[in-house]
Amino acid sequence: MTRRVGVLALQGGYGVHISALERCGYTVCEVRDAETLSSLDGLVLPGGESTTHLKLIKRFQLEDALTHFVRSGRPILATCAGLILASTAVTGPEQRSFGWLDVDVERNGWGRQVHSFEAPADVTPCADHFGELPLPLMFIRAPRLTRIGSDVEVLATVSDEPVIVRQGQVYGATCHPELTSDLRVHQRVFGP
Ligand code: GLN
Repeated sequence: MTRRVGVLALQGGYGVHISALERCGYTVCEVRDAETLSSLDGLVLPGGESTTHLKLIKRFQLEDALTHFVRSGRPILATCAGLILASTAVTGPEQRSFGWLDVDVERNGWGRQVHSFEAPADVTPCADHFGELPLPLMFIRAPRLTRIGSDVEVLATVSDEPVIVRQGQVYGATCHPELTSDLRVHQRVFGP
C-alpha cells in the first residue's frame, strides 16, 4: 500500500508540497481536521505566515491532535513557517511555538522578501541522508536557526549554517525543498 502523507492546509504554501509529494508517488491529502490527521503515515507543516498558522491552528482546534501526531513517532517535515511553529523558542519578534523540535529560531533571520535566494546546500555533514550531491534550496523570508539542541542532528548547511535538521522523525528545514525538482528531502523523510 502506498504511504499516505498529509499537508497541513490552513494557509501558505501547501499546494506545492502536495505536488512534490505526488511526484514521489505517495497518496496525498490536505489536512484541516484531527480525523484526517490520525489516518496519516506522515505530515508536512508548510511555509507561509507562522502568526496566521498559529491563529488558524487555534481556530480549527488542531494543537492537541498535532502534538499527539508528533508523539506517535510518525515522520514530520516542517518547512520555514512550519519550522517556526515546531521550534522550542522564537525571536524576531517572540511568539508562541509548540516545542516539537529542540531548536530556537529567529524569524526572517536571512532578511526580507527581497533578500530571498536560492543556494546549493552542503549535505555532506550527514551523507547517508541525502547522498553527496549539493541540494538546491530556496530561502524566502527564511528563519535562521539560533540554537540547536543536543539531540538534534544537522543534515544540511549553507555557508556553514544549519538549514535542515532532524530530531528523531521530526525534520525541520529553514527553506523550501518543495520548490525545486529535487525530491530527495521528501523521499528521505517519508521513505521509499
Ligand atoms: N517569515 C515567515 C514567518 O515568520 C515564514 C516565511 C516562509 O514560510 N516562507 O512566519
